[in-house]
This record gives sequence, structure tokens and C-alpha cells, in this order.
Amino acid sequence: QAKASGRNAFRFFSPSMTAEVSERLLLENQLRLALAQQQFYLELQPKYHIASRRLNGFEALLRWRQPDGSLVSPARFIPVAEDSGVITELGLWVLEQACRTATEWVRHGRQLTIAVNVSARQLTHGDFCAEVARVLRDSGLPPALLELEVTEGTLIDYSGPVRQQLAGIKALGVRLAVDDFGTGYSSLAYLKNFAPDTVKIDRSFVSGLQHNRDNAAIVSAIITLARNLDMESLAEGVETEAELAALQALGCDTVQGYLTGRPLAVNDALALCRLQAAASAA
Ligand code: C2E
Ligand code: MG
Ligand code: MG
Ligand code: MG
Repeated sequence: QAKASGRNAFRFFSPSMTAEVSERLLLENQLRLALAQQQFYLELQPKYHIASRRLNGFEALLRWRQPDGSLVSPARFIPVAEDSGVITELGLWVLEQACRTATEWVRHGRQLTIAVNVSARQLTHGDFCAEVARVLRDSGLPPALLELEVTEGTLIDYSGPVRQQLAGIKALGVRLAVDDFGTGYSSLAYLKNFAPDTVKIDRSFVSGLQHNRDNAAIVSAIITLARNLDMESLAEGVETEAELAALQALGCDTVQGYLTGRPLAVNDALALCRLQAAASAA
């Protein structure tokens, strides 16, 4: 017994653990520096209405290019930004950039929504709703063109402050989406209380949908649920025509994935907006 716990204690101080901790600390310091030195930028991934094939909007995805030119994946730096609290400042920067960009589209005559990912920590620290109101005012973006995405994990804490913040945001006329739906703690009570405008079906259910009965059953149920609750259904991570056809047959509203468009540089997204406008005017 003593030997076992002794081994556990030793494992806690093992060189690999120390390396992991110091790597995180290093990353955290680099994050603060990166924000100050403007190493972050956004990419925008298009979303389309399935039935009409029309461009519906974009999701803003954060990118970090280090001075040596290497890209760090959000899967790696977002958790560190969340744990360290850097996410509140970083998230606000994303929101400001995204709203400014979408306002530019409006100036070009395109009313397209911009979706922005929001971490739980942003909703529990300070008055995020007031920040959103300020950013909308400063950018001049109509609130209905902004959609904020939260994951089910965020809704676990759907009480007190988080509930208040989300209700306030909704009252501004901003849209809300539940991201990666089905992968977290998908209590239907959360869905009912949160009442998002959009349900984003996680890629893990969409992938190979046409020949996986279980995935097809889950996706079909989510689409039906969303429709009956007057919510938009969006399939994430669509990569093949076969998946798209299956989603259309199931009545899914919108789609986002490598098949219909990879994340684009801000200028390329604007070019796509103008191209689509020209196509629909023709
Ligand atoms: P997410 O919000 O679910 O974003 C969708 C992710 O799926 C993006 O990864 C996107 O590039 C990727 N994706 C889109 N279509 C496809 C496809 O067809 N196939 C595959 N394999 N992947 C596809 P990305 O950009 O690496 O972001 C990963 C996650 O990091 C995001 O997942 C989101 O949770 C988080 N994230 C990104 N930007 C932000 C941000 O500004 N704030 C916060 N809080 N989180 C962010
Ligand atoms: Mg998202
Ligand atoms: Mg997602
Ligand atoms: Mg995801």
C-alpha cells in the first residue's frame, strides 16, 4: 500500500510532469505576449443553407501564428487561455474583429451573420453582456447579425450569472447557438431553458452519416427536435457529397464543412460575399 502511494507521489514529480507544467507556463506567457504583439488573426468559415445553396454567414475561428511562422492549433492554446484567464481579453479581441468585419459586409450590401465562439469563463467573469452591447454600438453591426456559440459544457453551469448573461445577450437581439451538440452533457432541459436560435450538430455524428445507422438516427433526432423547438439545425464538419445528400434528405437547414468551404482569410471571405451577391443578382 505504502509502496503504491509512494510510486504515485513519485509520479507526480516525474520529469515528464514537470515538462508538461512548464510547457503550459511557457505557452501562457507566450499567449500574453502574442496578444500584445498582434500574432492573432481570424479565419472565416462559410455556412450555407442546404436547400437554396445560398451563403448564410461565417464562423470566426481564431488563429495564432508565432514569430517563427509556425501555427499553434486552437485545440492546444484555447484550453491554456481559458485556464489562465487570458481568454477574457482574447475573446473580446475576437468579438471586436468579427463585428468590424461583418459591418464591412453590410456596407457592401450583404446581410450575413458572423458567429463567434464564447468560452464559459467569459460568461462568469465581469459583465460580458455589457461588453457585447458596447462592441455592437462601436462597430455599428445590427445585433441580429451576430451569433454567439457556446458549448454544452458552458450550459452545465446554467444558473445565476451564466443564465443572466445569456438572457441579457438575447435581449440585445443577438443570436445564440449551442456548439458541438451531442458531445457534452446534452440534457434536454438545458436546450429548453437556453433556447438557442441554432443547434450545431457535432462532426462526430455527421461523419459517415450515410452508412452509419446509429449516426443517422442521432442526427435525424436532433434535426427533428430543433425543428419542433423552432431552432435552426446546422451540421458541422461536412466533408463529402454523400454526407450532404443524407443531411438534405433528413431536412437539415444549414451546413458548414470542408466540402462547402474551408476557413478563409478575411479578404477572401469578403470576395466570396461579393461573388455570391453578384450570383444571386444575376
Ligand atoms: P468549433 O467551434 O466547433 O469550430 C469548428 C472546428 O472544426 C474548426 O477547428 C474548423 O476549422 C473545423 N472544421 C470545419 N469544417 C471541418 C471539416 O469539414 N472537417 C474537419 N475535420 N474539421 C472541420 P479549429 O479552427 O481548429 O477550432 C477548434 C475549436 O477551437 C473550435 O471548435 C472552438 O471550440 C475553438 N475556438 C476557435 N476559435 C475560438 C475563439 O475565438 N474563441 C474560443 N473560445 N474558442 C475558439
Ligand atoms: Mg464553434
Ligand atoms: Mg463545433
Ligand atoms: Mg468543436
